[in-house]
Amino acid sequence: MKVVGHFIDGETCTPKGRMQDVYNPATGQAEKLVLLASKATVNDAIVSAQNAFSTWRNTPVSKRARVMFKFKSLLEEHAEEIVALIGAEHGKISHDAAGELQRGIENVEFACAAPQLLKGEHSKNVGPNIDAWSEFQPLGVVAGITPFNFPAMVPLWMFPLAIVCGNTFVLKPSERDPSCAIYLAKLLKEAGLPDGVFNVVNGDKEAVDQILDDERIKAVSFVGSTPIAEYIYSKANANGKRCQALGGAKNHAIVMPDADIDNAVNQLLGAAFGSSGERCMALSVVVAVGDDVANRIVDKMQTAMMDLKVGAYEDATNDFGPLITLQHKQKVEGYIASAKEEGANVVVDGRSPNVEGYEEGFFLGATLIDKVTPEMTSYKAEIFGPVLQVMRVENMQQAMQLIDDHEYGNGTCIFTRDGEAARYFSDNIQVGMVGINVPLPVPVSYHSFGGWKRSLFGDLHAYGPDGVRFYTKRKTITQRWPSSGVREGVSFSFPS
Ligand code: NAD
Repeated sequence: MKVVGHFIDGETCTPKGRMQDVYNPATGQAEKLVLLASKATVNDAIVSAQNAFSTWRNTPVSKRARVMFKFKSLLEEHAEEIVALIGAEHGKISHDAAGELQRGIENVEFACAAPQLLKGEHSKNVGPNIDAWSEFQPLGVVAGITPFNFPAMVPLWMFPLAIVCGNTFVLKPSERDPSCAIYLAKLLKEAGLPDGVFNVVNGDKEAVDQILDDERIKAVSFVGSTPIAEYIYSKANANGKRCQALGGAKNHAIVMPDADIDNAVNQLLGAAFGSSGERCMALSVVVAVGDDVANRIVDKMQTAMMDLKVGAYEDATNDFGPLITLQHKQKVEGYIASAKEEGANVVVDGRSPNVEGYEEGFFLGATLIDKVTPEMTSYKAEIFGPVLQVMRVENMQQAMQLIDDHEYGNGTCIFTRDGEAARYFSDNIQVGMVGINVPLPVPVSYHSFGGWKRSLFGDLHAYGPDGVRFYTKRKTITQRWPSSGVREGVSFSFPS
């Protein structure tokens, strides 16, 4: 069986050690093994990154950016291979994997602007013959720890920007779909990145803990579930590291009585069931304002859901694929069962779908649950599956209160034709990313991505302008070159 190893100091390596199965979620079979890095292997990666740092930080920024230009073309050239790797280990359909890759490439494009982004700030004559400027210097060795659901895009949120800022990088991808990161590392090398600047260690908690404990790692970017985000954030902080830890979500869409319901239903279908709902920006709750709106949505959804096609990634006519593991599929099925037990109405039940030829795959059909209430287990939890829940409220204030009361605050959206309502919503809702008639308001690469409340721990959002701040530290220099012959007198008062 193929063994997926690590990428350290410009080479792939497969040292002896613990291993774990990597499944093809469509067939339900373990088709590869992944090595789980020991502390010693993580140390090798950190040593390599540390050795590469002093040369890389002093490499002209335009040369650093040129590597990213080349990397972008290689990503486009090899898109098919990357999409196939994502499909085989994550299970998402090729059109969806291509979309994820494109959003990742946009982050590489942003990183290509490094010479502009890192110009700093300059003020002449802040005092007599005195100039002041701020520089944005790299931190050193930084690390990224990423989730299974975007094996290309989320790593691409992190390392291109960190690297063009002059840092060196250690990536610990998800052990459930580990091949994509190794492939990206090889392309970066081909693009001309010096050995050691980017390293990948596959692994689990042991590797993560080593990253968090090692004082040579100056900053950690994490994306994953909220309990792990909290753990990472508190441990990184206790160890004196800069940290941004993006966590889980429960994203609500308000549908107002004046909305174009047909359009809203189309948007909701893709946003709820695309990628089997395994997206941190998936819309998993519809908050219908008024029973009439709720009834119309449920009717139209029910009809539209009959045409949805769940299946394996190779068939691009499929709408979405399997869940990541059998265990996760059973967990999502448990939430559907609990909703029923707690009094909700399971209108479309996706349990036991028939996917011919893939009977062992981790498939779950699209599920619609109506009359969900805030105290239900399925409402409180992040389900992370193809399950859309409908809640009924009487007015917009109640809808907004529901969203504000939820522990997560990643994304949200309102469907309406009323500009005043939309503006009030975006101004006041306690959520980090807001859509107005846009169901998945994932910010473009030149803005930054991040939720509020327990969806993000840290001060800065991911990528874009916040990413530049996260991966650099400001140094402000004040300089005087007195005119020749001029000598300053002694002064004991604060300079003003
Ligand atoms: P996860 O938290 O299980 O794993 C994320 C990473 O943490 C992986 O690399 C994993 O190896 C590591 N990890 C897991 N358990 C650990 C432990 N006990 N100690 C140390 N490290 C550990 O998340 P996942 O299941 O891979 O991804 C799905 C989750 O990620 C969902 O909750 C989703 O909402 C979230 N997510 C959030 C965003 C965002 O931007 N907010 C984006 C994508 C995914």
